[in-house]
Amino acid sequence: MPYIQIHSQNFFDNFHTLSQAISPNNPQKLAIVLKDNAYGHGLKEIATLAKKCGIISCFVKNIQEALEVIDWFPHISILYPNALENPSLFKQCLESPNIYFCISALEKLPDYPPLSRIELKINTGMNRNGIAYNSLKEAFELIVKNKLQLVGIFTHNGFGDNFGCEFYTQNAVFLAVKKEVLKLCEKYSLPKPRFHSLCSSAGLRVNKDLSIPQSLQDDCYRIGIAFYGYLCQEEILNIPIHLKPIASLWAKKISSRMLKKGERVGYGGISVLSRDCVVSTYDIGYGDGLFRLREGMELYTKEGFKILPPASMDCLSVESEKEEICVFDNVEKWAEAFNTIPYEILVHLHSSIPKKII
Ligand SMILES: *Cc1c(COP(=O)(O)O)cnc(C)c1O
Repeated sequence: MPYIQIHSQNFFDNFHTLSQAISPNNPQKLAIVLKDNAYGHGLKEIATLAKKCGIISCFVKNIQEALEVIDWFPHISILYPNALENPSLFKQCLESPNIYFCISALEKLPDYPPLSRIELKINTGMNRNGIAYNSLKEAFELIVKNKLQLVGIFTHNGFGDNFGCEFYTQNAVFLAVKKEVLKLCEKYSLPKPRFHSLCSSAGLRVNKDLSIPQSLQDDCYRIGIAFYGYLCQEEILNIPIHLKPIASLWAKKISSRMLKKGERVGYGGISVLSRDCVVSTYDIGYGDGLFRLREGMELYTKEGFKILPPASMDCLSVESEKEEICVFDNVEKWAEAFNTIPYEILVHLHSSIPKKII
């Protein structure tokens, strides 16, 4: 069976590097994004490591994920609460004081009973989710009327990876949102909610402008991909930071054969051997969520063995005789080959692949 090895020391090193770069005086401002099975790394496994670092806030995808880590963090925010679809699980979350529901549209507010803890998402220019800036007043009226607990106000800056002014424009809009929120809180005698807006790449570009008063600064950073060891920024931004991928994917040998130069391997005989060599198959394929290597793609295992396309559903042919291979310990080459981002390669790995923490 294939397995994913999680290198805990790399995770701890990333935590240290990121807290130094983003919030050296208060590392607890770093929240971890654990959505989608911790980007394919294993929700419980990564939650354990995060807890060891003293991380107190996390963001998960849905109610099911929140309940899996319910005992581990004082603050658990559900980014996409599928509240009404799961009445009994929803009730369990409502009864847990450490679970918060992210709200992305005014129409969703009536779904929540009095005393529900919510984090309200504001659209500041990404135009994906969140209520409009000019609906803030209406949202506060509904929150007060329905007796909801406003725990957070947040936005998503969608330009952290990109050179250009939009990143700064969104920050400026969110600053204006925060000012308006403080006024509304005063008007309705509500406690100040926590503010957050930045993901990995954006957090690393945060403007440490000390002229902005404490009450208007972000209270936490939602860090996902950087904890897992990657950044996907446009090269020109060139942020000097060294992160270490924490996952490596391993597969075990199914069978081996000695083949001659010119012999062909796999469906359609697509791979033609350029020399006599031993070819083995290993027990991982696109049925396990690993992207399907196709004709013309050139990828090597960590040991430097050539992987022979095409990949099958449950196995992979490799110019190797070893009992076990490391398919990757860094997915950047895979992301490049498939013209995508590391997130997509990682998050596709099935949750059923066992995890080994070392
Ligand atoms: C996924 C996600 C993040 C984390 O983004 P990274 O680029 O992985 O750091 C932060 N905030 C929200 C709302 C997200 O959905």
